[in-house]
Amino acid sequence: TYVVTDNCIACKYTDCVEVCPVDCFYEGENMLVIHPDECIDCGVCEPECPADAIRPDTEPDMDKWVEFNRKYSESW
Ligand code: SF4
Repeated sequence: TYVVTDNCIACKYTDCVEVCPVDCFYEGENMLVIHPDECIDCGVCEPECPADAIRPDTEPDMDKWVEFNRKYSESW
């Protein structure tokens, strides 16, 4: 899965939301999040993010971000 990280905080762009083929972006408290179970790992959102906030969970120390994204995407 891909996840949204803290570079997204207060970002006003939603280019990532526009391109996601499965609409798995949700609004967190002050940033967007990706539902980890709905993301199909296509990767098209990553280059669209001007803040470089969208990262694959295969990078180091991403577990907390996966949980954070899950928590806020499931609060809807
Ligand atoms: Fe959506 Fe693809 Fe980005 Fe996952 S990787 S959030 S499916 S655009």
